Amino acid sequence: MNMTVSLALGSMTISWLCGGDFELDGGTMYGAVPKILWQKKYPPDGENYIRMLNAPLLIQTGRHNIIIDTGLGNKLSEKQRQIFRVYRQWSMVADLARKGISREDIDVVILTHCDFDHAGGVVMADGVGGRSLTFPRAKHIIQRYEWEDVSSPNIRSIHTYWPENFLGLAESGLLELVDGDAEILPGITVRLTGGHTRGHQLVEMKGTEGCAVHLGDLFPTHTHDNPLWIMAYDNFPLEVVELKQRLLPEYRQKNCWFTFYHDIFMKACRFDEQGKVGQTLS
Ligand SMILES: [Zn+2]
Repeated sequence: MNMTVSLALGSMTISWLCGGDFELDGGTMYGAVPKILWQKKYPPDGENYIRMLNAPLLIQTGRHNIIIDTGLGNKLSEKQRQIFRVYRQWSMVADLARKGISREDIDVVILTHCDFDHAGGVVMADGVGGRSLTFPRAKHIIQRYEWEDVSSPNIRSIHTYWPENFLGLAESGLLELVDGDAEILPGITVRLTGGHTRGHQLVEMKGTEGCAVHLGDLFPTHTHDNPLWIMAYDNFPLEVVELKQRLLPEYRQKNCWFTFYHDIFMKACRFDEQGKVGQTLS
């Protein structure tokens, strides 16, 4: 991944880190969308797999460092790496070090939701048999609904909410549960969306020059700009359709950038007058 891509919003700079990249069956990302339509936009390999990024965002405001989502982490077994077809290893800590930022320098971690591909890097293996919070000083912002579901997963979500990804977090004093919408730092606001998971949240980033919004898994790649193109992984599919019908125009009207976590083709885009993908950052 090109680690040098960044988006400047005046007082705020957004860049992307490597959260470990994997491959998924194409059908999982497009739900009921016929393959004949999605394969033109996101070509699968001969086995129907598509390459995905897991690209956590780093927001630097000059005063604070904020991370959105944490990738797959470094705790996967060899077998899990094979199952999920991990083709690039998680390297958030090394990526940050190259920018002169240490684990202790991260002030806030915002989790859009707690699926393993977003929360896997909350707790890391230290290489000598131990496990610890990857960002030991950071407040970890999670919606209360999401945390309730992590704490008592159902027959479906138990496969994606993994206890080892949250080991010690509740006891650390660094877990901060949010009910609904909240300003986390000046210019950084979370909003409860639901849809993908019950406690899924988006992140608004407002700098002195421009704004961006991270819709998490409501808008995982630029090919999901059609409100009807949703993932098979969505827990509340109709809610996602309605949310996208409402949120995409809302942020387009503000001329915000839409930032991506899973997209192999681009890091962010803006919409044109017709509501189609216009200006892109890749
Ligand atoms: Zn995801």
